[in-house]
Amino acid sequence: MHLSLERFERTPLAFFPSPIHPLKRLSRELGLEIWAKRDDVASGLAFGGNKIRKLEFLAADALRQGCDTLVSIGNIQSNHTRQVAAVAAVLGLRCRLVQETWTKWDDPAYGKVGNILLSRIMGAETLLEGEGYSTAVKQSWERALEQVRREGGKPYAIPAGASDHPLGGLGYAAFAEELARQEQAEGIFFDTVVTATCTGSTQAGMVVGFRAQDRERRLIGIDTAADAEMTRRAVSKIARATAELIGMNREIRDTDIVIDPRFAGPDYGLPDAPTIAAIRLAARLEGMLTDPVYEGKSMAGLIAMARSGEIPAGSRVLYVHLGGAPALNAYHNAFD
Ligand SMILES: *Cc1c(COP(=O)(O)O)cnc(C)c1O
Repeated sequence: MHLSLERFERTPLAFFPSPIHPLKRLSRELGLEIWAKRDDVASGLAFGGNKIRKLEFLAADALRQGCDTLVSIGNIQSNHTRQVAAVAAVLGLRCRLVQETWTKWDDPAYGKVGNILLSRIMGAETLLEGEGYSTAVKQSWERALEQVRREGGKPYAIPAGASDHPLGGLGYAAFAEELARQEQAEGIFFDTVVTATCTGSTQAGMVVGFRAQDRERRLIGIDTAADAEMTRRAVSKIARATAELIGMNREIRDTDIVIDPRFAGPDYGLPDAPTIAAIRLAARLEGMLTDPVYEGKSMAGLIAMARSGEIPAGSRVLYVHLGGAPALNAYHNAFD
């Protein structure tokens, strides 16, 4: 089934399709055929990442509405807010970012280097706020929007991860169609897809996009929020809303949404020993950098499930790389 996503306006912000390629040395190490789809290197905007794919749809909406300021929210080391800052810069918009403390990472450089540094270099205004992680709407965010209005600006509100937004799931529904075209060109089919998941619209978009395809595959979301139930609620809500927006006539089943809670570490933004070991393994075998908040956790999940046989030999696995390496410097002491 073709989803006709061309109906939805999109501002090009990346070099799609993002490349796919085999991870040969990791495949040999784990005894499975593993490829990567590299959304981490698909955009020239400030090191890119998965939020760019979603923001192509939100940016078009913001421009159509004549908004002049992008307002968003995330952790201090949020990749998402860094990507919003880059999109604002390239579109000539202002940018105001609420940077919360979702993670107690004990390092004086945490609020100065990595993603937040890049956002500041790109001219975004970064407001440091308290409050823990949740996908619920935040007062601090509402305040930031109100302030832009008081100053005579026209804000465009982008929730955490660009997820809980009517258009938030479209980017990764399009990803699924993009992948199917690449599979056809390569003469390959990935029966297992592994992705990190947190605010939910990445996995939700894939759930919708893959559901529209005739061949079933197993999509495994590795929870990184350290609250798999919250993540499941977010993915379910966004997947069903996106399917409805698109007008897809197949229902999203509960079994389409697989969230694995085992690799999230002690909390959001906090790596455990398997996260760090996975980051090192992918770096040393493939020269592929993953981060302690998201991709190191999905990589740890892939490694553990390959070694335990949960992903059976003979599977063809796609590891979706969603970005995040710009946070690495903020976590230098995790590698001491
Ligand atoms: C935001 C992010 C994720 C999680 O994506 P969601 O859409 O929030 O579930 C995974 N990896 C990286 C690098 C991210 O920045």
